[in-house]
Amino acid sequence: PNRVHGGLQDQDRIFQNLYLGNSKRCHTGPWDLKSAMKIGDWYKTKEIILKGDKWIIDEMKKSGLRGRGGAGFPSGLKWSFMNPPGWEKNVGPRYVVVNGDEGEPGTCKDREIMRKEPHKLVEGCLLAGRAMNATAAYIYVRGEFYHEAETLQRAIDEAYKAGFLGKNVCGSGYDFDVFIHRGEGAYICGEETALIESLEGKQGKPRLKPPFPAGVGLFGRPSTVTNVETVAVSPTILRRGSSWFASFGRERNQGTKLYCISGNVNEPCTVEEEMSIPLKDLIEKHAGGVKGGWDNLQAVIPGGSSTPILTAKECEDQIMDYDSLRDAGSGFGTAAVSVFDKQADVVHGIQRLLAFYKHESCGQCTPCREGSTYLSKMMDRLAVGQANEKEIDQALELTYKVCGHSICAMGEAFSWPYQGLVKKFRPLLVQRIQNYKKEHNLADRELKN
Ligand code: SF4
Repeated sequence: PNRVHGGLQDQDRIFQNLYLGNSKRCHTGPWDLKSAMKIGDWYKTKEIILKGDKWIIDEMKKSGLRGRGGAGFPSGLKWSFMNPPGWEKNVGPRYVVVNGDEGEPGTCKDREIMRKEPHKLVEGCLLAGRAMNATAAYIYVRGEFYHEAETLQRAIDEAYKAGFLGKNVCGSGYDFDVFIHRGEGAYICGEETALIESLEGKQGKPRLKPPFPAGVGLFGRPSTVTNVETVAVSPTILRRGSSWFASFGRERNQGTKLYCISGNVNEPCTVEEEMSIPLKDLIEKHAGGVKGGWDNLQAVIPGGSSTPILTAKECEDQIMDYDSLRDAGSGFGTAAVSVFDKQADVVHGIQRLLAFYKHESCGQCTPCREGSTYLSKMMDRLAVGQANEKEIDQALELTYKVCGHSICAMGEAFSWPYQGLVKKFRPLLVQRIQNYKKEHNLADRELKN
């Protein structure tokens, strides 16, 4: 695959206060308005607002930015859905809803933004709001992020005080408010319609679509749910220009991205890098390499816990972007890279993930509720080898039945890790079953389903 750019330089970074890898940190805090303005936040914001909705959306489209929450839908296009012909006649409030309910195992990038660069997010809310002709933004912050919510609220208060939010923001004639709503720690509230339900004070259960939120969203009004990272990068894109952002990465996979690298690496970190960086470079350059060296790598979950696992061999030439990881049978997701070295128990790792998904299923549709429970129990037995070999395929068959047959993507989220495990690591499962039989002196038929 052809990479266009040669690597992200420090001056190209959008986020100046995050980990830069290898324990090197850029200390420009505290994270207040004055410090934020020193690193370029809130610069020429009024001029951008005055350029208007069409210009902002056009720039976002040209930048090639794709939603950083996992789905990778083109952001400019998504934002444009809020302004269909005649939108002005639908008088009343319109909302930007920012998804800060980061609850997926391994993903820890939005948290870093809220902690370290809250003003980028607050300014991004304003500019995204201007693009969508919204009247207010609600930032939905994961319940566990207590300190992040505090930091963010401080930044919002500062912005109001400076005249950057509220009536006639920055003297532009545009009115805009930003509110924080704290969640209660339910993973499913990261799904956009469940998040809207939760914001409305109801149980966070996904809605059937259509109608889509851009038509009928929060409080029945046009709304767009967009991820923290997506919103936070937008002011820099609009200031530095779409072509600058699009010069990183490669066609259809452009820009910079926050990668969260965890697991069996020497220095776990969240780092900003260009799109389409080779996975090996990312781990070695920023996370201090795999524990015991690259040859000790067993597997990687490349894009957050729902993306199928890759073997060490597959990781050798893998580049990190939407298209490349899709072609590899996995996914880019949130770019949360979880590394397993050869001493790690991959089967146990997937078992833990399936228990998580079972716990977090909202339970309103049968394939997900029953499927996640069955699969998790099955995995508990498989992990110790107490199963029949044919049960590996029975469970696999179940995941194919679940995919595409549930209200939200949770069905796929718990099916893909199991499918990846069976496809790539079946011998490990078979070995466990054989060991168990040997240890307990059992014949096949004595292991009941
Ligand atoms: Fe709830 Fe699962 Fe159905 Fe999503 S797929 S709505 S989480 S039961």
